[in-house]
Amino acid sequence: MLLDMQKLFSHQDAAQSIPFSLDFTQEDIPGCRAVAPCEGSLDIAWEGHGRRLRLKLAGSVRVETECARCLEPLQREIPFTRTVLLSAQDWMESEEDLPLQGNKLDVSELVYTEIVVSVPSTFLCSEDCEGLCPVCGRQCRLGCGCKIKDVTDGGFTLLD
Ligand SMILES: [Zn+2]
Ligand SMILES: [Zn+2]
Repeated sequence: MLLDMQKLFSHQDAAQSIPFSLDFTQEDIPGCRAVAPCEGSLDIAWEGHGRRLRLKLAGSVRVETECARCLEPLQREIPFTRTVLLSAQDWMESEEDLPLQGNKLDVSELVYTEIVVSVPSTFLCSEDCEGLCPVCGRQCRLGCGCKIKDVTDGGFTLLD
């Protein structure tokens, strides 16, 4: 999905919102995998009597991964937003590090980058997930029955 920036700057139309639905299910996203198209919109608005362009990217993508403690598969919705302000005079030299192909903005690449930076480094099925039992390796919440008194880093003590 490419957005012709030259055209955008030469015809400063009214504000507009461009919806998108992008497929990243085959893309490499660290720590998870997209399971549905990424839905969102790119809002375009002008500021300072057309001197500045405000691009607002907002959307979310549903990903599949596993709990970092109990390894249970889980799905999460990852939201993301990014606002970029570009000057009409020197937008190509912007420090925003935009993915450009000539005069065109690669919206898919922009969205992909936002997804990658928005994905948390770890996922938990719930904040108080007890993880796997250090004795039998089963999920603690399933009540494996092992009698553990105390779990410390790298070790545990069994009840007598
Ligand atoms: Zn868990
Ligand atoms: Zn156990």
